[in-house]
Amino acid sequence: MNPLVSTTNQSGVAVITIDNPPVNALSPGVPEGLASAFTAANADVGAKAIVVIGAGRTFIAGADIKELEYAAWGQPAKLPALHDLLATIENSAKPVVMALHGTTFGGGLEVAMAGHYRVAARDGVMGQPEVNLGIIPGAEGTQRLPRLVGVEKAIEMCVTGKPIPAADALAAGLVDAVVDGQLLDSAVAFALDVVSRNAPLVKTSDRTDKLGTPERNAPLYAAGCALAAKVRRGAIAPLKAVDAIEAAVALPFDEGCRRERELFSECVVTDQARALIHAFFAERGVAKVPGITKETTVRPVGKVAIIGAGTMGGGIAMACANAGLQVLLKEAEQAALDRGMETIRKNYDVSVKRGRFTPEGVEERMARIHPQLDYAGFDSADVIIEAVFEDMAIKKAIFAEIEGIAGADCVLGTNTSTLNIDEIASVTKRPGSVVGLHFFSPANVMRLLEIVRGKATSSEILATALALAKKLNKVGVVAGNCPGFIGNRMMFPYMYEAQFLVEEGATPEQVDKALTGFGMAMGIFAVDDMAGIDVAWRVRKALRHFAEPGVRRPLVQDQLFEMGRYGQKTGRGWYIYDANRKATPDPEVVELIRSSAAGAGIAQRTFTPEEIIERTVYALINEGARILEEGYALRAADIDVVYINGYGFPARLGGPMMCADQIGLAKIAARIAEFHAEFGERWTPAPLLARLATEGKTFREFDLERA
Ligand code: NAD
Repeated sequence: MNPLVSTTNQSGVAVITIDNPPVNALSPGVPEGLASAFTAANADVGAKAIVVIGAGRTFIAGADIKELEYAAWGQPAKLPALHDLLATIENSAKPVVMALHGTTFGGGLEVAMAGHYRVAARDGVMGQPEVNLGIIPGAEGTQRLPRLVGVEKAIEMCVTGKPIPAADALAAGLVDAVVDGQLLDSAVAFALDVVSRNAPLVKTSDRTDKLGTPERNAPLYAAGCALAAKVRRGAIAPLKAVDAIEAAVALPFDEGCRRERELFSECVVTDQARALIHAFFAERGVAKVPGITKETTVRPVGKVAIIGAGTMGGGIAMACANAGLQVLLKEAEQAALDRGMETIRKNYDVSVKRGRFTPEGVEERMARIHPQLDYAGFDSADVIIEAVFEDMAIKKAIFAEIEGIAGADCVLGTNTSTLNIDEIASVTKRPGSVVGLHFFSPANVMRLLEIVRGKATSSEILATALALAKKLNKVGVVAGNCPGFIGNRMMFPYMYEAQFLVEEGATPEQVDKALTGFGMAMGIFAVDDMAGIDVAWRVRKALRHFAEPGVRRPLVQDQLFEMGRYGQKTGRGWYIYDANRKATPDPEVVELIRSSAAGAGIAQRTFTPEEIIERTVYALINEGARILEEGYALRAADIDVVYINGYGFPARLGGPMMCADQIGLAKIAARIAEFHAEFGERWTPAPLLARLATEGKTFREFDLERA
């Protein structure tokens, strides 16, 4: 008996159930189980038809991504290709009805499309999200999907990777019925109806009615490529998906499938696929934290109290309210509190306009947020998050206050971006309860939560913080307590190099263009303007080591601060902003940069985009290597998760450390050695990077060896 796939009989219909929690992925055992279940059902005289359904919350949600990882890194597959199974399903002499609920994605949809009919639960969704992993559907999805939904829709689904709801799937022809209530009963009834009508069993692979012709489809292929360029800038797989769909039209089914396999094989070994598959597993790996086991107590969280209703406090309040938590939001003064609540209301109004929330949904959320000027109710909060100014004295004063108010089990969190958690904790009698909860702006949107473990932070508090991240639909990454933790510590040298580049002759626009060309969501100067030049100024002031004598410091940022050019919020920063926050370069800033550089005797030259990337991104990588070696990040992969989810690093490059692996550590180390010779101490090569480069190893291998 295969424990993953079982067969029962309901009203003369063989019901094949896949039970491979949590998402019924096609891991080893499932395809084999399905194949033998089909053989048995076809031989069973007591079964007139076959229904396939998933146990638990979903139909097959996709392939086993471990298999993709093996393929990406050239290791032997543990599973046979699905081709034979799909042929067995499609060639079944008895009608096959696929009963779809939950997420029918990727390999799951490919299995479903091999059935003769599909019945979907109304809240089910279907999609081919393979492009998210840098690949195309590899089990005939690009061949069957256009046969069911037509070329245009198939291209849209495979290029964007976006799932479609059951109703759309019905309209497109992907499913034959959408049902409310009992899915299995409906699917069995559907199958019996097919039997009673003696309806012909049409194989999806035999259908051609929706395929059109290569000539008529030419504009669709062109539009597909344009769509790919728009929604997945620089990505290879969406274009290959269009090629595969073209093959579905131009070639007979079997040949089309062969072409799909070739294109799949080309995709899966690209740097992009490796990077995206790495990012997928990296995100799932962050929860593995030394000292936290299944037995570690996770404290329940229902009520969160936040101190400070500024940019961050407001966003955190929204994130918590969105997750159904009760929120107390405390401010120092009425005016600031009113401003904070108004901003929250305004942000929610935008969400309603964009169709993300209904007006009722927003009212429910607003009702969960309780604005206040005192600590009333803080004694029953499960988590307190301090989000006041980045100032150690103020933060310490607040922790000393909440020490006497918070319940014994309460998590005491600080949203500091850079400050020493242990020093903050030192003013309390329970430093084990103190943890950094570093959200990113806008906190209701950004997925990253950097969880900073102080030297005393207890396992329970850390585990509760990780569970809170999950509850807020965020990815929690544990960082050690060093100035700037993982993300901002790496940001400092990156930001400094960018400023040195402009002092040496580049413009902010050139630097930003090089960075966005590389794939960053935003250029660094645009980021500085968005986050606030005043905020960065405060951080520099708070971190004394940036004032070390003899160390080169940027010349212009402080001047911009003194001029009141705080960035977007004042309409001027590195750029000028119009009413729609559109940035234009400001000749005045360029002039300021040039005169400051002349005053400091800095030689001027021009820079290629490649040089700009080397100076900035290699600085990021070098600091990342240091953080890893010093143990402030548990894994190189954790650093990648931080940068992809909190700093706009492109997932298709895998994060800075995976990107370093792909560029080649030897190449990077050599360049850093040159920079070191030219610029001195700030470019001291990270010992770990230098060592791995000499040994011909990668950060990925470093992680694997220590796992
Ligand atoms: P902000 O200036 O927008 O908000 C701070 C708020 O705290 C103000 O509204 C102020 O009135 C309030 N406040 C000050 N003292 C208080 C007290 N004793 N009691 C109650 N409220 C008090 O600042 P922000 O950008 O929201 O930053 C808050 C914290 O989050 C800082 O530590 C900052 O470093 C960190 N942070 C900021 C960002 C960002 O992008 N802005 C990102 C991550 C972390």
